[in-house]
Amino acid sequence: MKGVGFIGLGNMGGALASRLIGKVPLTVYDLNSELAMSWDKPEITVAKDLRELSRKCEIVLLCLPTSQDVSGVLIESNGISSSLRAGSLIIDMTTGDPGVTRNLSKCVSSFDISFIDAPVSGGPRGAREGSIAILVGGSKVEFKRAEKILRFISSNVIHAGSVGAGHSAKLGNNLLNLICRMGTYEVVSMLVKEGIKPSDAVSIIQKSSGRNYATEITLPDNILSGKMHQGFSTSLMEKDSSLALQMGASNDMEMALGTVANVLLERTIARYGRDADMSSVANLFEVETGARIRP
Ligand code: NAD
Repeated sequence: MKGVGFIGLGNMGGALASRLIGKVPLTVYDLNSELAMSWDKPEITVAKDLRELSRKCEIVLLCLPTSQDVSGVLIESNGISSSLRAGSLIIDMTTGDPGVTRNLSKCVSSFDISFIDAPVSGGPRGAREGSIAILVGGSKVEFKRAEKILRFISSNVIHAGSVGAGHSAKLGNNLLNLICRMGTYEVVSMLVKEGIKPSDAVSIIQKSSGRNYATEITLPDNILSGKMHQGFSTSLMEKDSSLALQMGASNDMEMALGTVANVLLERTIARYGRDADMSSVANLFEVETGARIRP
């Protein structure tokens, strides 16, 4: 197989890239050189800069915080579009902005480079287990071309539509995740005040018709366990919910539930900061309701 590059080795990118070790000739890069050097193993090349990565690879995956970061890596000065070989394929696994993604796709096509979006849902745990959902936006031909490598990462690869559709679907999903999450904290806090133990409240809902990702994974794994670390920052969730609300507005929709959930997220950020883990939403509910959910 041709050289495969992975740019962005953070909480999510690192978990995704680890699925490719030993399966493809892998070159990795991260702006954080200390983090990048922790990937220095016999079957992996750690590129010293983007130019070295682009010389070695014809398929490049990225998982960066925002579409602006992707844009910087691809097309700003020293961007890799000008140093990648013609015919290369870029797979953007960032949770990005569909509008920026469509523009980027046009822009790199002038270098004869293909671009698809392939954001993921299922957290670092789903990535490590190989079950994470990968939502792909791109033509059928490009989807086929990317499918083999994406299936090394997960068995759960879904073609959402043309370029940008993966990002639209992912933003919609994350807004729904936020709505369900906030709704779950609200109801669990109320049940705790009614005298039910937090773990019982969560498992009762999980076995009943209110079940959702928060009752199945988020609360049991991160809050009830006392771990208080999901590996997903409040600022990244806020990027996703804000982009999703903009997408709703551009389709003339009120987005009443999404707006309320986003207000609760903003309150979490005001109290715990933009670098806080999403688990800090539990602290917010405890402070605001007086019901203790953590052990
Ligand atoms: P993170 O902050 O943990 O990691 C981002 C990494 O990108 C960092 O290591 C940083 O050094 C690197 N980086 C930033 N700019 C760079 C550049 N110009 N060149 C090279 N490296 C650069 O973020 P994350 O949690 O891994 O999230 C990455 C993307 O995945 C985001 O778009 C996020 O919304 C999405 N996502 C995250 C999760 C999750 O649970 N963490 C789940 C689904 C989707």
